[in-house]
Amino acid sequence: MKKIGLFATALQFLITPVTFAMKTIHENGLAKNGIVAHRGAFKTNKLPENSIASLKNAIALKCAGSEFDVQMTADDSLIINHDPKYNGLTIEKTAYAELKKTPLSNGEHLPTLQEYLSAGLKNNWSTRLVLEIKPSVFSKERAQQVTEKVIKMVHRLGAAPMVVYISFDYDVCKKVKTLDPKAQVQYLNGDKSPEEIKRDGLDGIDYHFSVFQKHPDWIPQAKHNNIVLNAWTVNNAAEMDWLLANRFDFITTNEPELLAERIKINPVAKGWKLIWSDEFNTNGLPDTTKWGYDVGGNGWGNNELEYYTKADTSNAVVRDGKLLIIAKKENKEHNTFTSARLVTKGKGDWRYGRIEVSAKLPIAKGTWPAIWMLPTDWKYGGWPASGEIDIMENVGFMPDTVFGSVHTKSFNHVIHTQKTKGFYLNDADKTFHVYAVEWNKDRIDFFVDAHPYFSFSNTGKGFAEWPFDQKFHLILNVAMGGNWGGMRGMDETLKQAVMEVDYVRVFQQ
Ligand code: MG
Repeated sequence: MKKIGLFATALQFLITPVTFAMKTIHENGLAKNGIVAHRGAFKTNKLPENSIASLKNAIALKCAGSEFDVQMTADDSLIINHDPKYNGLTIEKTAYAELKKTPLSNGEHLPTLQEYLSAGLKNNWSTRLVLEIKPSVFSKERAQQVTEKVIKMVHRLGAAPMVVYISFDYDVCKKVKTLDPKAQVQYLNGDKSPEEIKRDGLDGIDYHFSVFQKHPDWIPQAKHNNIVLNAWTVNNAAEMDWLLANRFDFITTNEPELLAERIKINPVAKGWKLIWSDEFNTNGLPDTTKWGYDVGGNGWGNNELEYYTKADTSNAVVRDGKLLIIAKKENKEHNTFTSARLVTKGKGDWRYGRIEVSAKLPIAKGTWPAIWMLPTDWKYGGWPASGEIDIMENVGFMPDTVFGSVHTKSFNHVIHTQKTKGFYLNDADKTFHVYAVEWNKDRIDFFVDAHPYFSFSNTGKGFAEWPFDQKFHLILNVAMGGNWGGMRGMDETLKQAVMEVDYVRVFQQ
């Protein structure tokens, strides 16, 4: 994974070896996968969270980090537990001996910090110990005392080179830095910009992933300021893919095995770099800095039935993290449907790259949703001479097939020579799939999810066969009827057809 380079830089600060021998071991051994097991790797093996067994499992999986929560009992023992209560007893009001009487579900006793760190140092050269200092339920002062005791313990055990500190309490974060300026400290609460974190001398932000969706500008800002990026608690593939595409340093998860799989298949593993995206996280009309509209109802060369509106939320709207393109049965200027056709022209035009769109399709007799590309400058003349790349088309009368195609002067559907291939998919209207092309100067490969199913090569015989050496832009639309979509007629009961788009991402090498 290409994120390694960035990651290694961050680690220079993390590794403060106490001996030369440790330095060698740690610098060579620390896992670079960015996977932080949240409360240890507990889930797959049904281990208790925050148990030593879950820590050992994270180490066995060679996660980059294993996270755990530290609190202090009434008699000042540092122990590992997430909730402020353990077995119904408030930890800060109860002595450790009393708490210890109830074992964890796997028979382990409630671990102390000393036991936890000792276990974490044993046979471990890969996995950082991501130590969360919990805020005190009593007072800010008590949290500061806990912090002092934690730092002393970490140093006494020689664990400092392996530890990353995290806390929701900003004063705790700052206290760690005061006591140990070389410590790596990441703030959890999501309310400080990377620039503020930098100003206050902390090292990273470890925020809920939704914070980054609301503040996408914090990602480049963090990178620009060398602030480490971490996100919690990321348990599904879609969010993992987004964070991986954005090259986060760490991702904190209850599903380390799933994250390891996503890392393998993410475009960044093949050397792609994200250069343009819309995650559709702001409700309302689509982002005007990224999208324009093709407007009108002239049949679009295919005798289609829809009128494409401009900036009308009844046809194109962002809602709950998705772009909805809504074809509706209503008359407008002699057309029987309204719909929308969004274009990135002038706002996103690319020559070569990986263009991927996660979408769920409307499928009914007469629907014709499309994710496709047209040339921006038409250098080789009007259609089809300058080319067309259809990343995904579906026609509702063939509900279980999606198509990838290219059109050129020599290869196009008018003369029945277009290059096209179908991919069998029986749930395109029920599940989001990623429709993608990887386009370079030699070929265009078409994918559904991780499956390549069609490839079109540059024959080297010039623009009539390969006009794909110019800039193209992306188009998203739901057409209705038309020469292909309406070939078997229309479902006359259909009131509307909605294509949902979760994200659009464009990568280049
Ligand atoms: Mg925690």
